Amino acid sequence: MKASGFFVSTLKEAPADAEVASHRLMMRAGMIKKLGAGIYSYMPMGLRVIRKVEAIVREEMDRAGAVELTMPVVQPAELWQESGRFEKMGPELLRIKDRHERDYVVQPTSEEVVTDIARQEIRSYKQLPKNFYQIQTKFRDERRPRFGLMRGREFTMKDAYSFDRDLTAAKASYQNMAAAYRRIFDRFGLTYRAVAADSGAIGGDLSEEFQVIAATGEDAIVYCPESDYAANLEKAEALAPAGPRPAAVDALAKTPTPGKSTCADVAELLGVPLATTVKSLVLATDKLDAAGNITGVQVWLLLLRGDHDMNEIKVGKLPGLREGFRFATVGEIEDHFGCKPGYLGPLNLKKPVKLVADREVAVLADWITGANEVDFHMTGVNWGRDLPEPDLVADIRNVVAGDPSPDGRGLLAIERGIEVGHVFVLGTKYSKDMNATFLDEGGKPQYLEMGCYGIGITRLPAAAIEQNHDERGIIWPDAIAPFTVVLCPIGMDRSADVKAAAEVLYEELRGAGVDVLLDDRGERPGAMFADWELIGVPHRLVISDRGLKEGQFEYQHRRDTAATKVPSTEAGAFIR
Ligand code: ATP
Ligand code: MG
Ligand code: MG
Ligand code: MG
Repeated sequence: MKASGFFVSTLKEAPADAEVASHRLMMRAGMIKKLGAGIYSYMPMGLRVIRKVEAIVREEMDRAGAVELTMPVVQPAELWQESGRFEKMGPELLRIKDRHERDYVVQPTSEEVVTDIARQEIRSYKQLPKNFYQIQTKFRDERRPRFGLMRGREFTMKDAYSFDRDLTAAKASYQNMAAAYRRIFDRFGLTYRAVAADSGAIGGDLSEEFQVIAATGEDAIVYCPESDYAANLEKAEALAPAGPRPAAVDALAKTPTPGKSTCADVAELLGVPLATTVKSLVLATDKLDAAGNITGVQVWLLLLRGDHDMNEIKVGKLPGLREGFRFATVGEIEDHFGCKPGYLGPLNLKKPVKLVADREVAVLADWITGANEVDFHMTGVNWGRDLPEPDLVADIRNVVAGDPSPDGRGLLAIERGIEVGHVFVLGTKYSKDMNATFLDEGGKPQYLEMGCYGIGITRLPAAAIEQNHDERGIIWPDAIAPFTVVLCPIGMDRSADVKAAAEVLYEELRGAGVDVLLDDRGERPGAMFADWELIGVPHRLVISDRGLKEGQFEYQHRRDTAATKVPSTEAGAFIR
């Protein structure tokens, strides 16, 4: 590829709403362009990365025996009514009507459609096992679309669905997929962990998330450095022995943290005057799974004046909340309230409370929990003020860093991760709801045992950047870089020698199958280097008159601090 025939468009400044490095850098590198909240165009430079991610995923899925198909983005509601998800799923499911007023959904995943295909196509045990996958557009009306491609509303997912004759076979299909995922994530060249996740009704170790390790991750991972134990927070908590919280958490709950937010902060946040009397509160979370169940541990607390319109506030106010206000675990909320998707309130206070300037939020919360006789296990952590990040202890009731690990082989540590993949045994939930059966050897109908397997294709590049960047820009792993090598000729328009040498090298590398870009835009060296460092191409070769006189090119890896001289006759071999 030559830059003149491609599209390179970089920005000096990132837009103000870009909070994390990957969002800022993808915008500045011209990889994505925002169209609306959580809706992005994948620009040519970004699309190259996405296509490389797709190609690796496709290769490994095919190798693992999965078969590719494509299912519709817009799906008739009837199927979703059969599974019950049309009613049960919260506002994350985008429901639309056609001109005849018929209901449709825009797929957030495709269990219903694939089960419908299977019940028509799979008749006999002889056709099993089968695994269908697609790489397709998904839409989830996320409560908090943010961080660019990391949590988009429209995004690309690879979703696969396995069909088996019994649970034993389904577990084998699951293990096969988990192994394929390891190959896929190894190939991306990222640091990741496969962690046990909650497998709902099925139980056992039948759900794992693949988490790219990054400080900006929205998930918390509990692991043991001495063994291979790793689980997401909810799972680790579920496994932790019941009983009183560890002393460390209790101590934290009782000790006011310096710099804790006060009622003045709450009042400011909610835009209400101090001395407002609070009569009710709303609890909400942005952590929902595809079925609309609350999965996350970050629970937001809103304090409302008695006269406040609930409908107005329940979504609209959420984005304004500060991060880091961690209150109770989801398990506790569920136990106490039997919570509904996404919206857990309102909860009327038995005793109205008043916002008082110098009161700490913890104190306020005490009043509330006292008034309602609910033990929230307030952890004493503030609204994100002056807190070192990550402060994960506060999230957790039964698991803290330093606890013994469940396998007894060391102490637990906690870190943050970005969920880039998820494998899951579904059992017969969908096949029973939708009556998807096959005939066994005895000619008897049996429900299909299913599994589902997702990879966030467009989230993956964002996760890669969170893990690999510096102050100058992105540093792509070779496997998913938009270009592997960039050739930077200096003074190409003035020097016939430089032009000729660059063209020869370009053709040589292309001929050898290297994904190379020749920057023939005629930019000055400083601007040209800055562009490619921002875009994050891992290998750079500079061709200049001075170098050519010595018979050399200058090679620099994106992580190198200085260039290395490479004899021009060996550059091709050097890069390969
Ligand atoms: P999260 O916990 O981040 O909301 P999820 O558990 O809801 O993700 P799954 O239903 O497991 O997501 O979907 C499979 C994969 O799709 C996820 O592992 C993730 O990589 C990706 N994904 C999910 N939601 C989004 C999104 N809003 N934007 C980009 N990728 C997403
Ligand atoms: Mg999740
Ligand atoms: Mg989700
Ligand atoms: Mg998931």
